[in-house]
Formats: sequence, C-alpha cells, structure tokens
Amino acid sequence: RTVYVNGEYLPETEAKVSIFDRAFLMADGVYEVTSVLGGKLIDFDGHANRLDRSLGELEMKAPLTKDELLEIHRELVRENEIEDGLVYLQITRGAPGDRDFAYPDPDTPPTVVLFTQSKPGLADSAQSKEGIKVISIEDQRWGRRDIKTVQLLFPSMGKMMAKKAGADDAWMVEDGAVTEGTSNNAYIIKGDTIITRHLSNDILHGITRAAVLRFAREAQMKVEERPFTIEEAQAADEAFVTSASAFVMPVVEIDGAAIGDGTPGARTARLREIYLDESRKTAV
Ligand code: PLP
Repeated sequence: RTVYVNGEYLPETEAKVSIFDRAFLMADGVYEVTSVLGGKLIDFDGHANRLDRSLGELEMKAPLTKDELLEIHRELVRENEIEDGLVYLQITRGAPGDRDFAYPDPDTPPTVVLFTQSKPGLADSAQSKEGIKVISIEDQRWGRRDIKTVQLLFPSMGKMMAKKAGADDAWMVEDGAVTEGTSNNAYIIKGDTIITRHLSNDILHGITRAAVLRFAREAQMKVEERPFTIEEAQAADEAFVTSASAFVMPVVEIDGAAIGDGTPGARTARLREIYLDESRKTAV
C-alpha cells in the first residue's frame, strides 16, 4: 500500500513519524475518514470543511488547501486501486523535538498522514441487512466531542465493552440521555418522526448526519433534534446510526430489547437507499 506522509508518497513500510509527535504523546491531532464508493470520494467537501473547523478550534493552521487535500485523496485512491473503501487523514501539531504541555512554536510543521483501506462491497455489507446490536454505557469522554481529535481511547473501551457483552457497538449516555455511538451518530424513529440529539459540544457533528437529515426533510419526513433516553429508544419503531463508513446502519437491539420486530426498519432502509443514491451523485 502507498501512503502519504508530509508531502511524500511512500510504501507503508517506509513511512516514518517522530516519537516526539504531539499526537503520539498527547493525542494532539485531528482526523477525518472519507468513504470511497466506485473509486469516488463521498461527501469530500463536508469532511474538508469539518477538518478546517477542528484545526481552528485547536489553533492549528491548515497546512494544505482543500484542493491539495482532494488531490492527495484521489492520488492514493488511484495508486492503491480502491474501488470501495476509506481514506484516513490525520493532521497533528507536529514534533517539536521534546515533550512539553504548552503548544510549540506555531511554525512547527504539522504532521500530515493519509492512508487508504480497501473494503470491497462496503455499501452492501451483511451487517447493513441484519442490523447491529448495541448496549448503553456511560459517556466518559472529554467535553469537546465536536472536535474530531485522535483521542479515541474511551470509544475504543466502549467497543470492547460491547464485544464482551455480545453486542456490536455501544451508545453512550450522559445525564440520562443518549449522546452518540462510539463512532457514529444515533437515531430513533417513532411513527413518522426521526429523533436525534441536537448539535452541541457533546457530540461530533457528523457529516453523514447532516446529509441524512437533509435528505429526510426533502422526503417529507419529520425530524426532531433533541435528547432521547434509552427507554424511549427501546420503545421506538426503528433505530439506526450514521457514519462515513457505515452510512445508515440499522440498530435492531438496545440493551437486549428488540427494536420494533427486531429486524431493520423500512424507513431506515429507505434512508440508507436515499443516502447512498444521492451521495454517489455528488461523489468526486
Ligand atoms: N460520532 C462519533 C463519535 C464519530 O467518531 C463519528 C465518526 O467517526 C461520527 C459520529 C460520525 O461522523 P461522520 O458521519 O462524519 O463520519
């Protein structure tokens, strides 16, 4: 596999970053994951815009323009012959040469790393037909979940808690209400209404979330952006999650309780179809 590191395209075995890199020592970096379908990037603009916002919130300068980033994404997709898969991008505050809590000089060059992951049949996975089971866990992450940092240890622990419980993922709960999944936004459907937590610093502002809610409103579905509890979710007709890699993924069980009849819901399936159709049209 060819990867990109700080201006160079290299075989992955030759790619190197410093042990003093701030992301390695302090999780001081941000990332994006963009999916590839049919060799094209889904929602690239949304991801590039969110990256800018994450960098801004951490007082980091964008080292590359949006066009330069797009070109690197495309080059890696071409070079690695990715038909369906993902492009991972990470930008860190760089490697100032020693460990210090204070940010280094703003002229310290950031570390920019991109790599691809091939996932044949990404849009057609067995999971998307069967749905996933989730458990609820307490949300113990930090308070700026709107910034897409590489500080992913709690989501990683949550995934392991889910696995140990025989489930696929965890929904995190704070003050009695669901924030989001470990790596996705969470939704329920009651009647004709889609309910998902409102945007704030408590959740990541999903690029897939923005697109799915837009398509839902265009399809005359009702959308309520507000907190909901696990009890309300268990009594819902349907549930699902969204992310760049899962698109719209049905949830069929929450803490052991079947949602609806325990199979993926019809409205969820429709939203998945609309999302995939519409986002393929704007893929670049
Ligand atoms: N919420 C969290 C915590 C995530 O990590 C992710 C994706 O990685 C999402 C939501 C979904 O965001 P997007 O749709 O932009 O992939």
